[in-house]
Amino acid sequence: MDTFFKEKYEEMGIRLNEVQQRAVMATEGPLLLLACPGSGKTTTMIMRIGYLIERKNVSPNRIKAITFSRASAADMQVRFESFFPHLPKVDFSTIHSLAFMITRTYLEKIGKRYELIEGKQHPQFSKQAILKRLYKEVLKEDCTEDELATLSTFISGLKNRFIPKENWEEVAQPFRQAGVIAKKYEQVKTKQADFLYVDFDDMLVIAEEALRIDDALADHFRERYDYLMTDESQDTSLVQHKIVEHLVAYHGNLCVVADDDQSIYTWRGADPTYLLQFQQVYPDAQILKMEQNYRSSKDIVETSAHFIQRNVARYPKEMFTENKKEKPIEIRQLPTRKDQLDFVMYELLNTERLSETAILFRNNASSTLYVSELHRRGIPFYMKDADDRFFNHWVIEDILNFMRLSFNLERKDIFAKIVMKMDLYVSRKMVTKFEHSSQNGNVFDVFLNANVLNRRQVKKLKDYQKGYEVLPDMRPMRVIQLIRHDLGYEASIKNRAEKFGYRFDHLTEILDTLESIAMPLRTMIEFAERLKQLGEAVQQAKFDPQENAVTLSTLHSAKGLEFEQVFMIDLQKGIIPSDEDEEDGHLLEEARRLFYVGMTRAKKRLALLSYAEDDGKKKAPSRFIGEVRYVQANGKVQQESKRHVQKAPKMKKASIPLNPNGIQQIQELKIGHTVLHRVFGKGTIASLEDMKLVIQFEKQQKEFDVRFILENRLLEHV
Ligand code: ATP
Ligand code: MG
Repeated sequence: MDTFFKEKYEEMGIRLNEVQQRAVMATEGPLLLLACPGSGKTTTMIMRIGYLIERKNVSPNRIKAITFSRASAADMQVRFESFFPHLPKVDFSTIHSLAFMITRTYLEKIGKRYELIEGKQHPQFSKQAILKRLYKEVLKEDCTEDELATLSTFISGLKNRFIPKENWEEVAQPFRQAGVIAKKYEQVKTKQADFLYVDFDDMLVIAEEALRIDDALADHFRERYDYLMTDESQDTSLVQHKIVEHLVAYHGNLCVVADDDQSIYTWRGADPTYLLQFQQVYPDAQILKMEQNYRSSKDIVETSAHFIQRNVARYPKEMFTENKKEKPIEIRQLPTRKDQLDFVMYELLNTERLSETAILFRNNASSTLYVSELHRRGIPFYMKDADDRFFNHWVIEDILNFMRLSFNLERKDIFAKIVMKMDLYVSRKMVTKFEHSSQNGNVFDVFLNANVLNRRQVKKLKDYQKGYEVLPDMRPMRVIQLIRHDLGYEASIKNRAEKFGYRFDHLTEILDTLESIAMPLRTMIEFAERLKQLGEAVQQAKFDPQENAVTLSTLHSAKGLEFEQVFMIDLQKGIIPSDEDEEDGHLLEEARRLFYVGMTRAKKRLALLSYAEDDGKKKAPSRFIGEVRYVQANGKVQQESKRHVQKAPKMKKASIPLNPNGIQQIQELKIGHTVLHRVFGKGTIASLEDMKLVIQFEKQQKEFDVRFILENRLLEHV
């Protein structure tokens, strides 16, 4: 054993296994580390960096470690510092921040000014606002929230997958004219000659293009780093892979760490099949597999290993562990959603190391109830991707306005805000007139006296006025119910939802959550204060968490992390997998991978929780719970029915669109001819023998597999 590993063992008690050691020492040339969860991929990557610095005297600023998200960059920083406290800092960054650096340099160089339109508050000229406007322009109707999200993801996919603009209308459209809108979106951003609007995807696309066409700039960045590594590479998109290809073009010192079973971002352009071609892109690449899990108990490892085998589109791997058996995976179906919440709270109250505990969920919407309850009980929590949209949602503002009016029935300004939401069908004009009228007093009387309402409206408004008489004495939960059902609020937002394309069930879910928050409270003042406190608590949980805090996280953001105990909550049919996932083999497998990512976060205790009923409605558990149960009972993966097997997806080849001008015939490859390679640019064919094609590029010579080159049309005539 290299003394490096001995020292690390003595310092930290981690003895790297043979494959891990080989991966650490394979510093030169390309390396693909394809491994199971908890097998030490990230650990190995960090050790490799330490090894480069300590043993190979590489200066830390010559190393670039690329992680998936800012959170994982921070996580890796912490791990590195605890492994190598004496070493100077290493720069862990996301591919986006690296791409932004390149893009910025490039745009400055060519004298283009630019402005970011994503990731910050910019209501007038944000990506969202532009897309909304264009949607309306093209389709002559308002864009729903869901369609906006779909459109945004669609455009990300086009760019991350390198789909040329002329094909945007031909690829599968999420809805009609989506490709047209996407094209218009590009035009808007690039309309001015010396000015660009740039979104996150553009950063990638521009960086890639800059590296491809600007040799001097590419050289500058190539010369900057001698060693590159990417963690979680199963979630890297083609354009991101390409950026990395450009950067390592001279030295090829690249370590790519990945687990295809944890690929959970293909929906927005990540492409794990690139890993299949790794040796074609990097002909001299080593591939190492790590299958021993060091993280989780025997039960968790074996059950999740069988669970994921049900997926068809995967590289075979046999995850195993030498860890001991702990408790088997707990599967609990609680009677109601509230019981599920109480169960988790009870367990947390009996947990000492909250920082080693996580509550994981599919959708952010699940978190609010937990936030409220944790806050009420004074249990510290951490939420790195806290979603403050909930506390700023217009539904909450509406409810508070309804309540505010009850404190002073003469407030015309407040009444003006809510009368439109009382299912009265009054016009904006009427309301403005009312606001500016000289009449004062009880707002209901004033509005009624204006004589602008028809008989039905008058009757309704009189009922509402009566409602307001009893409202101040009610507990806030009852008040919310009254607003929803007796003051016409729910009917009015149902209307709005249909008109503006909000999801009505999302809106009622918010109202349900508000009722739960209000349940233990006595007055409306307390309720308003509680909401304010919760909003602040979420901010604190995100930016300045307390010590020993339990982690709340979506399954997506939990990737790479680990905890002694994990509660996966709201594991319901319709949530994971979602109804949409259920209909598509690829999506269903991705949902299963997401579930697997959750399971494999747990070291000792894993609880899979669901509920049988919510709000009086029966709810079914996630099919994945059934699959885990089957594995537990039978010790192996359940065989799919014949029908399902046929429908199951085949591993899809990376879908880089084929270059229409790409060379397809071997006869066209002539020694001495100049060709253009998709990645490496211009070069001269040096030799062609035994299906091996050698091309001399300006600065390097590369060998390719002819079949692969022709099939994928990677070359074109110059
Ligand atoms: P994921 O796929 O979830 O990102 P990973 O493969 O990156 O997982 P790590 O997070 O690096 O795995 O390691 C998982 C756990 O196993 C960590 O607690 C780490 O300290 C431990 N570990 C890794 N290698 C060894 C080893 N050789 N001996 C003992 N413990 C190890
Ligand atoms: Mg990892």
